[in-house]
Amino acid sequence: MNAPQFWTIPPSELSPSQLAIKTQALQERLVSICDQFDDVRFATSLAAEDMVITDAITQAKLPIQFFTLATGRLHQETVDLVKTTEDHYQISITKVYPEESDVQSYIDQYGINGFYDGEEAKKACCGARKIKPLNTALQGAKAWLSGQRREQSTTRTELNFAEHDDARGIEKFNPLFDWTEADVWAYIKQENVLIHPLHLKGYPSIGCEPCTRQVKQGEDIRAGRWWWLQSDSKECGLHINR
Ligand code: SF4
Repeated sequence: MNAPQFWTIPPSELSPSQLAIKTQALQERLVSICDQFDDVRFATSLAAEDMVITDAITQAKLPIQFFTLATGRLHQETVDLVKTTEDHYQISITKVYPEESDVQSYIDQYGINGFYDGEEAKKACCGARKIKPLNTALQGAKAWLSGQRREQSTTRTELNFAEHDDARGIEKFNPLFDWTEADVWAYIKQENVLIHPLHLKGYPSIGCEPCTRQVKQGEDIRAGRWWWLQSDSKECGLHINR
């Protein structure tokens, strides 16, 4: 049989007891965050890591508020998955939209797909559609969560569980910071977690539609994000803390 051309979901490398330890540690991390802070919010993009965290939050019935950045450029599959996730987990996910005037200013200056022309336009688009809405979504929060992992990218190797988000003046937690890609998929399989349908079509990482493509077998798992830019530009700026 020919090897698949595109990325496929990795097999589990964990024994059931190893996965149980990871799962318990994840629950303990989430509980400890809620014990310390009374307004914790989770920015979910509906990708695999975020679905793991969503599952763990709902299993533990933790008082964490969910939101997603409705950029206006998402795949229809992502838009549809928000509702499916709400129904499946009996939660509410706040959709945070960009300001129309910010999007229009970006379009006027760069064109709607101006991000393909370079870093400056990409930063402006992410600024209008993601970063400013994130700042709005986190107003009043004491802490927030992300699904980032160290292993995801050369820009994330120093990632820790807890960090201070100087940009928003609150704490930020990365409860999967030390999980591997195989750990994530082992949890998903064991807990029967909902997944984004594009993960089954060669997309390990999912963002806005025009800035995300399939990844070939053996490529970096974020190779399909902003593929026309240098590797140190393959972040949207959401996780720059200062
Ligand atoms: Fe714009 Fe692409 Fe950033 Fe989405 S990921 S906000 S479309 S530049």
